[in-house]
Amino acid sequence: MAGLFFDDYDTPVFRPPSEADSFILRVTRGCAHNSCTYCNMYRGVKFEKLSDEQIMRQIAIAYSVDRDGVRRVFLADGDALVLPTERLLKILNTLKKYFPNLERVSSYAAPGDILRKSLDELKQLREAGLQLLYYGMESGDSQTLKDIRKGVNGEQSIEVGKRVRAAGMDLSIMIILGIAGVPGSERHALATAHAINEIKPTHLSALSLMLYRGSELKDQFERGEFTPLPPYGLMEELKVIVEHLDLPETEHMIFRSNHVSNYIRLAATLPRDKEKLLADIDESIRYLKSKKNYDVYNHDWTK
Ligand code: SF4
Repeated sequence: MAGLFFDDYDTPVFRPPSEADSFILRVTRGCAHNSCTYCNMYRGVKFEKLSDEQIMRQIAIAYSVDRDGVRRVFLADGDALVLPTERLLKILNTLKKYFPNLERVSSYAAPGDILRKSLDELKQLREAGLQLLYYGMESGDSQTLKDIRKGVNGEQSIEVGKRVRAAGMDLSIMIILGIAGVPGSERHALATAHAINEIKPTHLSALSLMLYRGSELKDQFERGEFTPLPPYGLMEELKVIVEHLDLPETEHMIFRSNHVSNYIRLAATLPRDKEKLLADIDESIRYLKSKKNYDVYNHDWTK
């Protein structure tokens, strides 16, 4: 169903790589928070909750095009969970009614939206079919979260993750390597490892910081107020995070570092593959250090 295009898709639609084959159902436009300093995804997009009629129109088209083929649905845009629980339940029940082979519904979730929902509400959403949330935690460090204006502190980030897991949902956490720059790297790494140990997400993705045009962080960089890590520094930061992960043997957290922003692709199941992952990271550090002429300021950082 990917590739549907009509007037409810008139501004950019973002989705995780793993939702490439999903029916992207837009229930909001933009992001209600829209304040994170590193993000330019919805800059200039006026936030809006789509009407029942707009949502139904998309469902009706997907139904008429490929009723039996819709197995996965991704609720867009940046924070669909900002919708009241009643409306989300209605949407989830409608999806179940229209698509007989529906297996999974997922969504991005901003931390403030999850905190505004009780555990009971999250359980209701899980029972209605919302199985997976993608949560851009970015860091477990309160100072870093404050600097990037994520809207929550480290403790709240952990509370968000634990609540989602307690509701029985799968949780894919995204963290950003380099988000605290050179001065905050170790603090960010240690607090992030602590948060992951507390939350025990089902999936963990490590993205690399990119300084996107139009983002406030890029302006800070250009004013000399933010010092990014070199590529090998990102891997050194990841090494500190992985070294400090202390997950029970019974956990099977899928780790991926395969976003378009990453210099090196890594994959592991943790804690089982921890030593192998650390060896891969060491090799990555050696490789990236050997790229002596690599100029981070004229490569991806500024694109
Ligand atoms: S919550 Fe997500 S989409 Fe919204 S501004 Fe922050 S990073 Fe961007």
